[in-house]
Amino acid sequence: MADIVSNDYKLDFSDVMIVPGISHLNSRKEVNLLRTFKFKNGVEFEVCPIIAANMDTVGTFSMLKRMEEHNMMVALHKHYSIEKYKEFFEQDNGKSTFNYFITVGTSKEERVKFNDIWQLRKKCNLNKDFPVLINIDIANGYIPALREAVEYYKRTYPNSIISAGNVCTPEGVRLLSDAGADIAKIGISGGSLCITRAKTGVGYPQFSMILECREEADKRGVYLISDGGCTCPGDIAKAFGAGADFVMLGGMLAGHDECEVEFYRNENGEEYCISHGMSSTTAMMKYNGNVPSHRTSEGRTVPIKAKGPVNNTLLDIEGGLRSCGTYIGAETLEKFAEKASFVKVYHQLNTSLVK
Ligand code: 5GP
Repeated sequence: MADIVSNDYKLDFSDVMIVPGISHLNSRKEVNLLRTFKFKNGVEFEVCPIIAANMDTVGTFSMLKRMEEHNMMVALHKHYSIEKYKEFFEQDNGKSTFNYFITVGTSKEERVKFNDIWQLRKKCNLNKDFPVLINIDIANGYIPALREAVEYYKRTYPNSIISAGNVCTPEGVRLLSDAGADIAKIGISGGSLCITRAKTGVGYPQFSMILECREEADKRGVYLISDGGCTCPGDIAKAFGAGADFVMLGGMLAGHDECEVEFYRNENGEEYCISHGMSSTTAMMKYNGNVPSHRTSEGRTVPIKAKGPVNNTLLDIEGGLRSCGTYIGAETLEKFAEKASFVKVYHQLNTSLVK
């Protein structure tokens, strides 16, 4: 018989608000958005743990240039050619080591391509064996192929840090951690360009997901990336408050100058670009030349109004997070989860003057 896993309603970012409390901080300047991450293999780095998603209209080299100025990160999309990587490694010379993930899926071809990239990086970086951050990303992280891929990459590149996903339950976090992942990426069907909920009925609200996965992540000593569902800086604050270690953004970073997409003017002279989900018909046609008959599109293709340089958006995010820190008395991002308490709400934003 079918089972209702929980009778509680599960919550999304828009279902909660953070409650302000007595704070010892006088200024937003006192809130530090950098955090040090330490991994089991001894690798350690300090970043602002916001990651541009590995979508081909978001996770670009151009995005990385701007994000790293803010100490933020990019999961580079997996469709870059070896030549593009060569260009990047030659001018980067190892300086952005911890600002980017190289993304792969589970296929054998991707293992070969990753090895080529890795060798190239070694050669361009004076043969130094820098650790590499690997993002093993597939839509459904519960399948055996993902666990096999995690085991393979961990065994072959022990110096690396492996993020794997996506899953959305404590059971999924356990699976990935057992396979050797250092970071579990959580989020299924909550993305701005995602239509998985409509196509399959599958999903889990992001805010509750983070709360529920946190305990398992602590037990296993893995970090959590909350991936998808953030629509504004306040949502990012809520994700950190719920216990995410990193927050991944797609839609919020789409439509900027750094997205490596073409912009066009519509009939009113307004500038737009097209963004698509990585499981959309557009993406499948672009990279496979067809939509296989056993699949259906699980992503949208939408016009997005041009947003200009991403720097302004990143400053806005940083400003929002610092302000949240002062409201809850958290002087570091790490303290957000300890200090944030939430209330459930029916209404969040007053939109009476918004057209
Ligand atoms: P956003 O920040 O836009 O709400 O969510 C970004 C995340 O949506 C990505 O990191 C990825 O996990 C997910 N995503 C991107 N494209 C697609 C797609 O076509 N279908 C689905 N189901 N998820 C997608």
